[in-house]
Amino acid sequence: MGQQMPYFKYHPDPIRTGVFQTGQTVACSCCGKETDIWLKSEHICPDCIHSGKAYDKFGADSNLNSVYDYNTDYREQYTGMIDEANIEELLHRTPGYLCNQYPVWPVHCNDFCAYIMTVHEGNLIQMGILEEIKTYLRKEGAFDEGDYGTEMRLKNPEAYAESILIGGCDRYLFRCLHCRKYLLRYDYD
Ligand SMILES: [Zn+2]
Ligand SMILES: [Zn+2]
Repeated sequence: MGQQMPYFKYHPDPIRTGVFQTGQTVACSCCGKETDIWLKSEHICPDCIHSGKAYDKFGADSNLNSVYDYNTDYREQYTGMIDEANIEELLHRTPGYLCNQYPVWPVHCNDFCAYIMTVHEGNLIQMGILEEIKTYLRKEGAFDEGDYGTEMRLKNPEAYAESILIGGCDRYLFRCLHCRKYLLRYDYD
């Protein structure tokens, strides 16, 4: 790979997560330069995402950003709690991640968390964090609020955690940039 990947703090390894592709050279449809790393969904280079140029050019119509503007409450919801610059960075200068519904970013320590990768139970065992994630699911669940599983979690935390870890959903692992805690989100097809 000839090119350097800029650092996306909310999505630190976007080649491993499959959001960017490599292996040949394409022309970036934003800056026109040749690039050997591009968004899986469109020929856009990482620099154009990182600088905000792609967002300025294609805006929310483009399938390139994290939370887009159709999730406008992100801004309203977190203004005052999260630094404006961080909200801006997530919404306009961070590549989204591949998921069934639309990418959501959990919040911890007054900041968005970093998306690590999509996981199954085996990955968590390998990483040595299965118990940590189980405890997290039992106690806090996999959504900030309004999780339809909350009732189930309160009634039977163990079954709830199991249903997420081995159920038919996709699981997205995040990590707090500040206290390093792992969090999990999930969605269904
Ligand atoms: Zn570009
Ligand atoms: Zn934290």
